[in-house]
Amino acid sequence: MGTTGTVLAQEANFYRVRLDDGLGMVLCTRRARLKKTGQSVLVGDRVEVAEIDSASGRGVIAATCARRSVLSKPPIANCTGVLVVFALSEPAYDPALLSRFLVHIEAEDLGVIVCLNKIDEVPPEAVDGVAAAVGGWGYTVRPVSARTGAGLAALRAELAGTYVLAGPSGAGKSSLLNHLHPGLALRVGDISARLGRGRHTTRHVELFALNAEALVADAPGFNQLELTLAPELLAGYFPEFRPYLGRCQFRNCLHRDEPGCAVREANLERYGMYRDFLAEVLVSAQKQRRTA
Ligand code: GDP
Ligand code: ZN
Repeated sequence: MGTTGTVLAQEANFYRVRLDDGLGMVLCTRRARLKKTGQSVLVGDRVEVAEIDSASGRGVIAATCARRSVLSKPPIANCTGVLVVFALSEPAYDPALLSRFLVHIEAEDLGVIVCLNKIDEVPPEAVDGVAAAVGGWGYTVRPVSARTGAGLAALRAELAGTYVLAGPSGAGKSSLLNHLHPGLALRVGDISARLGRGRHTTRHVELFALNAEALVADAPGFNQLELTLAPELLAGYFPEFRPYLGRCQFRNCLHRDEPGCAVREANLERYGMYRDFLAEVLVSAQKQRRTA
């Protein structure tokens, strides 16, 4: 194996690759053989780089390594997890909206870190209350402030791998990335601006290096928040429901009003939310059946 690296961005036919071992960045084309075999190169791919010319900062991608995973929206290879950024104030904390993001991420089978941002805006008891609740749902929670920098060292220490940012507009994603990656100088609001239907949403994905171990993508792909999934899968996307799932009287229980439903009888905090989401999922499943 020659020199290896990670693809951080693609622009037209060029790939920006960060070489391993601190060897710097190179702008690469794809070797013709790769093109011929139709082998795609994605942001996040691990690649082998040849013909490195350090004077011009150019190189050629000679081969791609096997992918551990591929995310479709945004298109990223080898994604480790999602950093869900949620504000505790402005916009007001909304547990149902947070759960909606989380269900989407569960459906993609990705790891999650929930960053509760703007802790400088609310009393410490309020931060603790939300952190305990979200922790009780089964998630890793990091209370942070992109304004004061509180909690960011702990967050940074926890990151290892490739992450995608998700979260509603105004939660503080751009501010957080600026903090975690000081050289970046994203304009605040930039990321949310990309949530529009512009070409950026589908084509432009870029990974920012926070340190030698961690990369974060600035393209939030979890903005399609309509829940369209198989109704029987929904309960499994609530981690705190999982211990009860095998215990219902009926194997095909949807955890509504069926007798002997262990999930309903467990009195879980998010049970009401589950019912709301289930109703929505059933409607979209019905629509799909009608058009099929
Ligand atoms: P994005 O839409 O998720 O990228 O959010 P932005 O980073 O653009 O932030 C939205 C607004 O929240 C901006 O006015 C930021 O200055 C503000 N903001 C971001 N983080 C914090 C924070 O930790 N505390 C406070 N008080 N305001 C913040
Ligand atoms: Zn049940």
